Amino acid sequence: MRDENCIFCRIAAGEIPSETIYEDDACRVILDLGPASNGHMLILPKDHYADVTELPEEAAAPLLPLAARLGKAAMKGLGCAGFNLVQNNGEAAGQTVRHFHLHVIPRYEGGPAMCAWTPGEQTPEERAAAGKALRENL
Ligand code: AMP
Ligand code: ZN
Repeated sequence: MRDENCIFCRIAAGEIPSETIYEDDACRVILDLGPASNGHMLILPKDHYADVTELPEEAAAPLLPLAARLGKAAMKGLGCAGFNLVQNNGEAAGQTVRHFHLHVIPRYEGGPAMCAWTPGEQTPEERAAAGKALRENL
């Protein structure tokens, strides 16, 4: 359940020092070394899963409540006004470390825009084709 060449496996195991915010048997929460904002955290499972498609349900289930708890701690402790949960899967989606991780990114009043996209346009036919392809592959 661990990849010897994976830096996040080594950080999660405590072999590489990190600014640890929280730890339990299943995961470690650290501060990101290239933070999008002050207090940017990464939730790292201790077992190696490349991305969310490999993450078993029992490993996934506690992560959202933990992220909420961390976000609330950032609001109370650091004074952010909100926070984003971001989770990238695959290089095309911006994933740079192939060990599942969930970003908790504090957002401050007047802070820079991030985690946003420009709304696109789609014809009803295009939307219907996308819906069909998705439903057929669930
Ligand atoms: P992602 O682009 O979703 O794969 O996110 C990877 C994140 O890991 C980036 O925000 C990096 O700044 C962060 N990162 C990479 N190496 C380390 C490290 N050794 N310690 C802490 N954060 C790291
Ligand atoms: Zn790993």
